[in-house]
Amino acid sequence: MQQQKEYDTVIIGSGLGGLVCGAILSKEGQRVCVLEKNEQIGGNLQTFKRDGVTFDTGVHYISGLDKGQNLYQFFNYLGLMDRLELLKMDEDGFDVILLGDDATEYPYGMGYDNFKQKLLTCFPHEQMAIDTYCSDIQRICNNFPMYNIKEGNEYEDKTVFTTSAAAYFDALTNNEKLRAVLAGTHLLYGGNRNKTPLHVHALVVNSYIESSWRCVKGGDQLAKLLAKSIREAGGDVLRKKNVTHIELENDKAVYVETDTGERFYGTQFISNMHPAQTLDLTDTPLFRKAYRSRIQGIENTVSAFIVNIVLKPDTVLFHNRNYYYHCNTDVWNTVNYHPEEWPHHYALFENVPEKGSAYTNGIILMTYMRFDEVAQWKDTMNTTLDEQSRGEDYEHFKQEKAEKLLALVYKRFPELEGAIQRYYISTPLSYRDYIGTADGNMYGIAKDFNDPLQTTISPVTKIPNLFLTGANIVLHGVLGVTVGAFITTSCLLGKEYLVNKIRKANETLS
Ligand SMILES: Cc1cc2nc3c(=O)[nH]c(=O)nc-3n(C[C@H](O)[C@H](O)[C@H](O)COP(=O)(O)OP(=O)(O)OC[C@H]3O[C@@H](n4cnc5c(N)ncnc54)[C@H](O)[C@@H]3O)c2cc1C
Repeated sequence: MQQQKEYDTVIIGSGLGGLVCGAILSKEGQRVCVLEKNEQIGGNLQTFKRDGVTFDTGVHYISGLDKGQNLYQFFNYLGLMDRLELLKMDEDGFDVILLGDDATEYPYGMGYDNFKQKLLTCFPHEQMAIDTYCSDIQRICNNFPMYNIKEGNEYEDKTVFTTSAAAYFDALTNNEKLRAVLAGTHLLYGGNRNKTPLHVHALVVNSYIESSWRCVKGGDQLAKLLAKSIREAGGDVLRKKNVTHIELENDKAVYVETDTGERFYGTQFISNMHPAQTLDLTDTPLFRKAYRSRIQGIENTVSAFIVNIVLKPDTVLFHNRNYYYHCNTDVWNTVNYHPEEWPHHYALFENVPEKGSAYTNGIILMTYMRFDEVAQWKDTMNTTLDEQSRGEDYEHFKQEKAEKLLALVYKRFPELEGAIQRYYISTPLSYRDYIGTADGNMYGIAKDFNDPLQTTISPVTKIPNLFLTGANIVLHGVLGVTVGAFITTSCLLGKEYLVNKIRKANETLS
């Protein structure tokens, strides 16, 4: 007879959300098991190596990590802060916006005073718009209790959920360039003119303005440290465990089963999978038809096309900043792009150099790509655990797209032409296969200002001992997912209890 493995909490998926939940519960005395379908843990925190160069798949920079800031406090409670290898980005321009043929570089300064000052230098007649923007963003962020490590549940201003980000910028100023610069980093949240609410922009951009950091040698260090703390507390983090079923008895989950028939029993369960895929794990009538069709019908954020470039040694000097390029000031032309006009934007992220070098060894180019562009290969699958070719026509498609993107990049960064040793491409299919979503979306469900309730996902489900976590709860990104994991685990531990624990861990800071 198969031996039963029994845990306090079983977590499906080792993305950041699953691992943070696991680390919190372990810290609070639970025996936790995290089950990951991939060879590598971390979901979007995964890195990969080509020709000796490490590339991040889904974490290029993180935010809010100066002493006392929000992510610092969460990570400090988790014991991560003195173990993470971080590099603070350029305080006089951690992000730089580039607009078409305009030769000016528009830098984002770190800290609100510096941010305003840098913008005022570029837009000397726009003081009122810049001041209004900064105070609006900070006011909106104050509305979210857990983001600020506070107990409440109530949002003082509910209109932030129904305010369109694009419409906000249209009303803020007539200066098209300033609007484009302020919205210029929407690759961070998959900005969509017809959907993105202002609070999504605010929560993401605010924390980067507060402070921006690169993970030296990759974001997978976060996953490794979190897994270590779970294991040190007696828990398990197990790879190559593809969960395919949740078994219920008396309307409660009792175990999850993998594709090889292994069972993992628990008192509580947390799913770090996309909610739509979580529902596929059980046909329980507790999830009513209307709920299933709502969750399965919600539109996700757009996916990405990424070119990971290995550079010839000592050819490109490192800039401790990211570049966001847009072909013109119509920066909201994102999801509904015409393939002929693609790419309209890109982000350029540089690898932190090896110790002692002034040169970067790798560059990541990222732009949007809809799943429909790769839909003809949707029946293929390719991961390191299950390596398969998607065919020559797919290779040709990738190549053609990469060359188109590179041609645009060379216009602004001519020094890159000739510096490239080799490049490796990821498409929406890569993200779909590694993360397990239906469409390889970047940031989960697309929040919608037209109908905020429909796109709001509660961590609590109709199965009383099954909870949800990850990018679809609250917000995506390292900060958003961490806040979400604290919200998910507060359903098990109590919000007041958890907030007090975080405060206590950070007491010496005040
Ligand atoms: C291209 C890109 C760039 C990004 N850049 C940044 C950035 O610079 N900064 C930032 O803060 N954020 C960035 N993000 C966002 C950030 O990486 C994600 O929001 C975050 O990592 C998602 O965490 P998650 O908890 O939702 O888990 P996910 O990363 O979605 O992981 C889910 C995990 O569940 C596993 N899983 C799925 N199904 C099963 C199953 N059946 N059984 C077992 N395991 C399963 C998957 O394999 C995966 O490991 C980026 C994302 C992308 C895609």
